[in-house]
Amino acid sequence: MEKEYLMIPGPTPVPHEITQAMGSNIFNHRGPKFKDLIEDVTEKLKKVFATSNDLFILTTSGTGAMETGVVNFISPGDKVISLSNGSFGDRLANIARTYNADVENVHSEWGEPLDYEALEKKLDEDKDGKIKAILVVHNESSTGMMNDIERVSKLRKNHPALMIVDTVSSLGAVPVEVDEWNIDVCLTGSQKALLLPPGLAFISVNDRAWEVMQNCTQPVFYFSLQKAKDFLDVGQTPFTPAIPQVVALKEALDMILEKGRQYSFDRHYLMMQSVRKAAEGLGLELLVKEEASASRTVTAIKKPQDIEIKDLRSLMRNKYGVEIAGGQGKLSQEIFRIGHLGAITDMDVLTTIAALEMSLVELGSKVQLGSGVSKAQEVVMQKK
Ligand code: PLP
Repeated sequence: MEKEYLMIPGPTPVPHEITQAMGSNIFNHRGPKFKDLIEDVTEKLKKVFATSNDLFILTTSGTGAMETGVVNFISPGDKVISLSNGSFGDRLANIARTYNADVENVHSEWGEPLDYEALEKKLDEDKDGKIKAILVVHNESSTGMMNDIERVSKLRKNHPALMIVDTVSSLGAVPVEVDEWNIDVCLTGSQKALLLPPGLAFISVNDRAWEVMQNCTQPVFYFSLQKAKDFLDVGQTPFTPAIPQVVALKEALDMILEKGRQYSFDRHYLMMQSVRKAAEGLGLELLVKEEASASRTVTAIKKPQDIEIKDLRSLMRNKYGVEIAGGQGKLSQEIFRIGHLGAITDMDVLTTIAALEMSLVELGSKVQLGSGVSKAQEVVMQKK
């Protein structure tokens, strides 16, 4: 039997128990069964977000949650700083621009850290609080760079700008301490570290953000968080939710919380280390040099000079059943990306590295079989 390994930065494989849960009968989303369900999963999600803020379940993709994070809090003409070092940072800025915000993009090269100093300077100089929001992506999936949200939070000091944070490819796999870091609006999607298929997104909102929302003049309909709140108060969502996904969400959260958040953090850390060590063992260059700022969920590796990424990906897919991702945008011909998040395990990582080695050799690269796998094995053996 052929097995497929989905080693991309999302969507990620879904455990059998969770897909089975999706096969439940459809029931009334305006009845008591759904009320009990949504109240239960909302409380459990708050534990994963480490928050006591309001939290909403949306039927949309991660980008829908990004748009929700913009349209409810940013009025046309508002000055907004977008910190960006990759395609998702740019997307967040573009969404804000689409809604006529006055966006200043504090840009760093893709694969380089955010320009924290520039942000601090702009906030310190902004004595009359013209900057209304800071938009930032925690884990930049396009490059495998993990940005330091705690640092952004600390250097914001008492500036009133809201922090609107995309944690689509990090929450659940890496500490995201919504309350401790004062994240005003934190958004994520279902299909990455949270063990679920695509289709749901989650967003938390604190009191400061609610206050800003009261005066927000942006038109909004489907993504209105005021509507979401009014309906959640009676155990419903404003529109028909993806009921099977919400049933599956309960199963996923029970699974995550049974083991505890730390278990997931440790697992992802180990997988990140094993992929990075394997790349080094193979003599391949990592896009993000410093381990401290390397993503725990996706690793971007520069391709060997004489190999085309499309050939590598199709050989790995067709011969070994391993699906990896290419680069995005300007890095599409330069890097390939291995996703190691959600239900992916360290043994899947070893298989992926083995397939990578065999494919590189077959494509004529001078790597030594076993030179990456052995390094990854050394990491995996440290597992407790
Ligand atoms: N933000 C980040 C960091 C992502 O990795 C992704 C998806 O890969 C998104 C946003 C967009 O999510 P979706 O594709 O579900 O709209």
